[in-house]
Amino acid sequence: LIELRDVNKHFGELHVLQDINLTVGRGEVVVVIGPSGSGKSTLCRAVNRLETIESGSILIDGKPLPEEGKGLAQLRAEVGMVFQSFNLFAHKTVLANVSLAQLKVRKRKKEEADRRSRELLERVGLASQADKFPAQLSGGQQQRVAIARALAMDPKALLFDEPTSALDPEMINEVLEVMQQLAQDGMTMVVVTHEMGFARSAANRVVFMSDGRVVEDRTPEEFFTSPNSDRAKDFLSKIL
Ligand code: ATP
Ligand code: MG
Repeated sequence: LIELRDVNKHFGELHVLQDINLTVGRGEVVVVIGPSGSGKSTLCRAVNRLETIESGSILIDGKPLPEEGKGLAQLRAEVGMVFQSFNLFAHKTVLANVSLAQLKVRKRKKEEADRRSRELLERVGLASQADKFPAQLSGGQQQRVAIARALAMDPKALLFDEPTSALDPEMINEVLEVMQQLAQDGMTMVVVTHEMGFARSAANRVVFMSDGRVVEDRTPEEFFTSPNSDRAKDFLSKIL
């Protein structure tokens, strides 16, 4: 479903993505981990075309990413992204936040969009919060709204970039549980996270990045019990 072939990118002198090859099949959950600055966010952003790449190719369902214009909104609907900062519209209600792109990108009628939004809010456990504004919700609730909003586009895949890193500890689990459920329901997901419990329980594969390279790409079991590289061993010794 998502395929990166020999992808390269620099930021000035910094070779932030080096010959990245990565395939994410339909229904697969791939957790991406690695030290700060290793290129995890840039990788996600490149798939969503929030960053351009210099060489190689990125394919979604076998098709290259669109260059610009209308295709980009379509791409970002098909491959949704959930960020560390929830990026909700502060002056719109929870319901309106989830409905907005359905109206604009999916061209749904308002009633239909709102109905779908309420279904999704129910699914993330926020049915009763539909008429509140983001600031009236906890961080964990806001992040679940952001997930509902991404789901409202009926995406083929979702990218998560450290979705729980900005949350207070007691709110992390409510977000991980929603993600775990999505994984079980067969959503294709790429998840950058430091939550190793989630990686162990939900991931089909763990991709370990270091200095712009994919250093390991293995099952969680293999990765956590016998990492191949010294860099992964070193990283795991610091976080586990
Ligand atoms: P973290 O765990 O801290 O989120 P990361 O693995 O997501 O790190 P990236 O955000 O992808 O890392 O950044 C990789 C490198 O590229 C870092 O050294 C960063 O400073 C640099 N970088 C990221 N975005 C830009 C940019 N727009 N311009 C210049 N350098 C950038
Ligand atoms: Mg990052």
